[in-house]
Amino acid sequence: MAIHHKVLIIGSGPAGLTAAIYTARAGLLPLVIEGEPSSTSDQPGGQLMLTTEVENFPGFPEGIMGPELMTRCREQAARFGAQFITEKVTRVDFSSRPFRAWIRDTEYSADSVIVSTGAQSLMLGLPEEPRLIGHGLSTCATCDGFFFRGQEIAVVGGGDSALEEAQFLTKFASKVHLIVRRDALRASKIMQDRALANEKISIIWNSTVSKIHGDDKVAGIELTDTQTGATSELGVTGIFIAIGHRPNTDLFKGVLNMEDSGYLITKPGSTYTNIEGVFACGDVQDHTYRQAITAAGSGCMAAIDSERWLEHQHS
Ligand code: NDP
Repeated sequence: MAIHHKVLIIGSGPAGLTAAIYTARAGLLPLVIEGEPSSTSDQPGGQLMLTTEVENFPGFPEGIMGPELMTRCREQAARFGAQFITEKVTRVDFSSRPFRAWIRDTEYSADSVIVSTGAQSLMLGLPEEPRLIGHGLSTCATCDGFFFRGQEIAVVGGGDSALEEAQFLTKFASKVHLIVRRDALRASKIMQDRALANEKISIIWNSTVSKIHGDDKVAGIELTDTQTGATSELGVTGIFIAIGHRPNTDLFKGVLNMEDSGYLITKPGSTYTNIEGVFACGDVQDHTYRQAITAAGSGCMAAIDSERWLEHQHS
């Protein structure tokens, strides 16, 4: 027998938790399946659990730590009756109503589903990354650039993201080294021209980061030349990884419409997916803004879309 809820929210970053606050306050007693602890952003609280200080979330003039912000949002949702399960959904069936989701053998059903499973920044796969993220290692220049005023830093990647991040970071850093694994950039011509014209950006070609030094904060990196295998040291205090993102949508393949890149497709100006009653919000459907506040905003939209859709079903 399935455990039934009016609203099921899958994922608990700023989008999922905002959707939980709104649907809970609307008396819909949402169930949030929030994910389970891991070293990636695919975990309860999402990518903010991997950051330290957040200075750009409105309402916190002194800044707030990412994990604390998420804990507070969770408490706010719980105060209005949201329930939480700290597990990962293992399977969904949205082909008929009520919609169904499973955690292994336990079945849950819901009249409406809000998908907010987020996205992950691709990482280099170095063992020191989990330890240093938020301590000089970052995946978001908009979020963390400010902390590197006057410092020498590195950006890894050669696509539009890396060049955009590098360009942005020159507002703060004294020097930005762009580490590119080939002898060419993947980024668009206009972005390449801008980066090449920027005196603060220097490109290190045919190189990968083979080690990040530092126990509790970044204290330099080791580079390996991809052609000769020779290693060298670079004395930077910050490193930004910008080699792409991956939305957490494996669960919804063949179920919800998605772009080739895996991002869920929502109807413009709304959070409607291709299945009526299933809504998507946050980074799982946004590869443009990727900010906590925009994710929270779209979580609010999903809650209102879901509430209005449910009302319509009963009228
Ligand atoms: P891309 O996949 O376009 O680029 C990834 C870059 O990272 C490539 O240079 C790639 O190298 C490099 N890379 C991948 N893995 C590694 C690794 N393990 N070590 C070192 N380097 C690695 O991702 P982006 O996030 O840059 O862009 C994604 C999409 O978003 C693109 O379509 C882009 O155009 C778009 N975008 C547009 C922007 C804009 O228009 N303002 C801004 C940001 C993104 P290689 O080339 O060798 O594969």
